[in-house]
Amino acid sequence: MLHTGRHFLQIPGPTNVPDRVLRAMDEPVMDHRSAEFAALGTEVLQGLRGIFQTAQPVIMYPASGTGAWEAAIVNTLSPGDEVLLFETGHFSTLWRQVAEKFGVKVNYVPGNWRRGASAAELEARLTADRGHAIKAVMAVHNETSTGVTSRIPDLRRAIDSARHPALLLVDTISSLGSIDYRHDEWGVDVTVAGSQKGLMLPPGMSFNAISEKALAATAKARMPRAYWDWQEMLKPNRSGFFPYTPPTNLMYGLREALRMLQEEGLPNVFRRHDRHAEATRAAVRAWGLEIVCEDPREYSSSLTAVFVPEGSDADKLRAVILENFDMSLGAGLSKLAGKVFRIGHLGSFNDLMLAGTLCGVEMGLRLAGVPFKEGGVLAALQSMAPAGQKVESAVTSK
Ligand SMILES: *Cc1c(COP(=O)(O)O)cnc(C)c1O
Repeated sequence: MLHTGRHFLQIPGPTNVPDRVLRAMDEPVMDHRSAEFAALGTEVLQGLRGIFQTAQPVIMYPASGTGAWEAAIVNTLSPGDEVLLFETGHFSTLWRQVAEKFGVKVNYVPGNWRRGASAAELEARLTADRGHAIKAVMAVHNETSTGVTSRIPDLRRAIDSARHPALLLVDTISSLGSIDYRHDEWGVDVTVAGSQKGLMLPPGMSFNAISEKALAATAKARMPRAYWDWQEMLKPNRSGFFPYTPPTNLMYGLREALRMLQEEGLPNVFRRHDRHAEATRAAVRAWGLEIVCEDPREYSSSLTAVFVPEGSDADKLRAVILENFDMSLGAGLSKLAGKVFRIGHLGSFNDLMLAGTLCGVEMGLRLAGVPFKEGGVLAALQSMAPAGQKVESAVTSK
């Protein structure tokens, strides 16, 4: 089918890249050893600290998020080290596989893919580890396969009350710049992030925010590392340079994206995402469909994963929506394949884009013959604009 107008990219990453960011990248390639580049490098490395809410250095790699997963491991651990990693879904499973390929012994704390990491379980396991064999606790902040957000401050408190020295490594690839996250205040040692979700950039860059404790751990960490070595990166970074060729045009985009987030203000960015997530859940409930996340305290503000009724095929529904309305939705991953579809509502997004997205889902449910109740879109509109109230998130960036 021929499509007119704009494609709706409503997968939970990569997300829509704002025109401002696209235009900022449309520049000739620059000399990455020049003074002009150093100014750009310094500005983006400094600006990133605000987004991670850290005063410590942030490392930037030309790599997808998976590269930054690997970097977190090879800079802090040695082969044979034990770690605790929470099973939250598909992405926690992939991170586990990366760790195991490096000879890390992963204690994979089982989960049902509908809940976040359990602080109580963490405290019990760390308290039992009297010999401090566990070197790191690893968790995915926002599990993109399920739409469940783990409560990281609770994990920090559990580590502290067990008086355990393990490092805390957290994946924020689908939450940074969308859901409140505080690297320093929450005592996280390594935060892993990527460019293509809340940061509104194309894929191709990823990040490690690091604590002083994580940096100190590099001295003892015996994993081989070259490309990912923080120490090699930090030296040239001090003057805005990189040890190898950085993705210069993506960095123009990053500078623009950071400006957009600063103009809106992080608290407003988070409120906007919370509000769109709430409206989406209002739609799902009105449709009579089930949200994957079981605990309202763990609802994700960047995406909502939804079960189709038994006997329906979520992949067929997505195909009908793509074919008829030119909208991409996220697929159910691994054990949720065919059972779940995921609505991304993160990044460069607004009320009418969400309304359009939910209209596409509702029309798709009808066309695909999935049993549902009409009225989800109306419920979302009422959630976003309750009668007699001023729309609170009418924040537009200049
Ligand atoms: C997207 C995502 C990843 C994978 O990142 P890539 O850029 O595809 O390597 C890892 N973890 C989470 C939570 C994600 O959402």
